[in-house]
Amino acid sequence: MTRVPKPIDMRSDTVTLPSEGMLRAMAAAELGDDVLGDDPTVHRLQDRTAELLGKEAGLFVPSGTMGNQLALRVQTSPGDQLVIEDGAHIYRFEAGAPAALSGLLMTCVPAPGGRLDWEHVEAALNPDNVHAAPPSLVCLENTHNRAGGRILPQELVVAVGAGAHARGLRVHLDGARLWHAHVAGGLSLAELARPVDTVSVCFSKALGAPVGSVLVGDRATIKRAYRFRKMWGGGMRQSGLLAAACLYALDHNLERLAVDHARASALAAGLSHPRLSVGHPVDTNIVMVDVAGEGADVRLVAHLAAGGIKVLGFGPGRVRLVPNLNNDDADIRTVIDALNNFEKA
Ligand SMILES: *Cc1c(COP(=O)(O)O)cnc(C)c1O
Repeated sequence: MTRVPKPIDMRSDTVTLPSEGMLRAMAAAELGDDVLGDDPTVHRLQDRTAELLGKEAGLFVPSGTMGNQLALRVQTSPGDQLVIEDGAHIYRFEAGAPAALSGLLMTCVPAPGGRLDWEHVEAALNPDNVHAAPPSLVCLENTHNRAGGRILPQELVVAVGAGAHARGLRVHLDGARLWHAHVAGGLSLAELARPVDTVSVCFSKALGAPVGSVLVGDRATIKRAYRFRKMWGGGMRQSGLLAAACLYALDHNLERLAVDHARASALAAGLSHPRLSVGHPVDTNIVMVDVAGEGADVRLVAHLAAGGIKVLGFGPGRVRLVPNLNNDDADIRTVIDALNNFEKA
């Protein structure tokens, strides 16, 4: 008998499919027309997320990208300077939106582990004169995707918040995976968000919801974001259907992220291949595997695919694995074995 292994998908924590329970919660959601302002489930999600993060108001948006870009648009003017870490999602993976949608000049500062500190931000700020783009916003990312799901030290976030505010700048936190910093690091979400003005969080990452992010901040800022969301085509009608999945995700899938973290650590610890290594501490659910050899990353992705395992190539010499809600412990062992068997005769 040939055994066909079930496919294991560790490309991202976005590949999860809604569970039966989540689908039932969606089917039972009370709905309205959110563009007309009367979808009660959307309001419940916005209010609950704002409260969790200790901010005045929240806005439900279709994607993390829209949440981030709205935050940029409403806290800057075209021609302003945005200071951001060089590996940040907002800079690398949002299709040039800060330039296209908000007319921003980005100053990108490389920082190991994505840990952009106040000293480096301050050194990057343009001077206050007519020749320079005036700085108005600083962005941080927690946890940091490209750095391998690293958690920002909270003292760093506090210092950037304090320094920026003293200079009259605003701070936005890309918190697509802030959930992980909370579960792995033990600080409350409100504590993690306190030093910054706005935060975007994703429910479609790791928490198992099919769609949805929320941007939180003070009431006036969120009111402006609401207007731009409509302008950008992000006003949705019976979106309570999606918000219900996000509420379910908060109730059922937040604290269990610790399981994904343990699996990611086990995966990294299980590597025993002379050409494979993980060059970062595994703080949360992301494992960046470095593979030595010309073109070896492409061959590694293909080798794993042949064994029914999907991963993402993440630049030359690197692949990304993200254990998620749809994986189990057996999957981790299967992936470790497949990695350790790469190009073994
Ligand atoms: C995934 C992600 C986003 C947003 O992605 P969407 O696909 O637009 O939802 C933003 N920031 C980080 C750090 C991410 O990993």
